[in-house]
Amino acid sequence: MTRPDAQLLIIGAGPAGCLAAATASSVGMTSLLIDPAPAPGGSLWQIGHLANWPGFQDGPSYARALGAHLAGLNGHCSYVQAQVVKIEANEDLVRATLADGTSLVGEALIAATGVHTAKAAEVSWITCTQDFAQITDVSPAALGVRTVVLGGDRPLGTWLRTHRDADRKLTVCHPMRDAYKVDEVRSDARLRLVPVRAVSVTGTGPFGVDVLRADGARETVEADSVLTNIGTVPTVLPGLAVGEDGFCPPAAQHPRVVTAGDLSARDGQRVSTAAGRGAEAALTLYYRLRRQAV
Ligand SMILES: Cc1cc2nc3c(=O)[nH]c(=O)nc-3n(C[C@H](O)[C@H](O)[C@H](O)COP(=O)(O)OP(=O)(O)OC[C@H]3O[C@@H](n4cnc5c(N)ncnc54)[C@H](O)[C@@H]3O)c2cc1C
Repeated sequence: MTRPDAQLLIIGAGPAGCLAAATASSVGMTSLLIDPAPAPGGSLWQIGHLANWPGFQDGPSYARALGAHLAGLNGHCSYVQAQVVKIEANEDLVRATLADGTSLVGEALIAATGVHTAKAAEVSWITCTQDFAQITDVSPAALGVRTVVLGGDRPLGTWLRTHRDADRKLTVCHPMRDAYKVDEVRSDARLRLVPVRAVSVTGTGPFGVDVLRADGARETVEADSVLTNIGTVPTVLPGLAVGEDGFCPPAAQHPRVVTAGDLSARDGQRVSTAAGRGAEAALTLYYRLRRQAV
């Protein structure tokens, strides 16, 4: 029989994965915490100001504290710097295949890979054959005269506030579900807001953007630049069960697998909920393994 590398494989070292490892250690379980980043923390490293997690002013401070805590768990948790490309679970074991082709084996697995900024090709309402720059990565000086923004997520407001003096006009094609977000920037005279059902982008610059508007009318917008502002999508590992909304609910997984953090549900994407769901995932698997219910 294959000997497990650890009792628990934890994939993703954001707050969900880190709290899963800390909680697993508290009940005597060994774990491997697997993430391609050089240190644990996940999205915490991007949070410049953290107002809703008592005791820490910013994400990196909390990430460093988590790293120090995990390093002091007396060998119960080892950090493996690697990317997982696939997971499998059977009656006896779970397996995580790494990008270099090797694999790690455990008794149970927690997937906590979070969400990532969506590319245009990842959403169903956009048809295109290429990828476009994310709005937050582009300054007004780099834009042509006519710019189309795909999606109405909140970084649009951040961009407009950051570049208050920029006189660029933006046509923002957004699905109806973004309407409450574009309400926050509706009064900005630089914007033309177009609620859409679908868009199709052709060309390599200038671009032709064929729009099926939410009211059913069609139009074609010529653009020198196309940017994305679509929001985030779950970072799904092959081998996980995926719900209709693209997220991976814990209850839908193999009994040896639990999902946690931002990956597990659209709602509640916060440091505190990720940490709580990670801890809960570890205890769920601890009790399942103890009762030999899997
Ligand atoms: C800019 C920004 C600001 C935010 N501000 C706040 C805030 O003020 N307050 C708040 O409560 N929340 C905030 N959030 C949200 C918060 O950061 C997340 O809800 C939380 O980090 C989710 O934790 P997680 O562990 O589920 O995922 P993440 O923290 O995203 O961690 C996921 C980890 O999985 C790893 N991973 C992905 N794919 C693989 C793979 N194939 N193999 C191995 N590892 C993989 C990633 O490298 C990453 O380290 C903010 C997020 C961002 C991006």
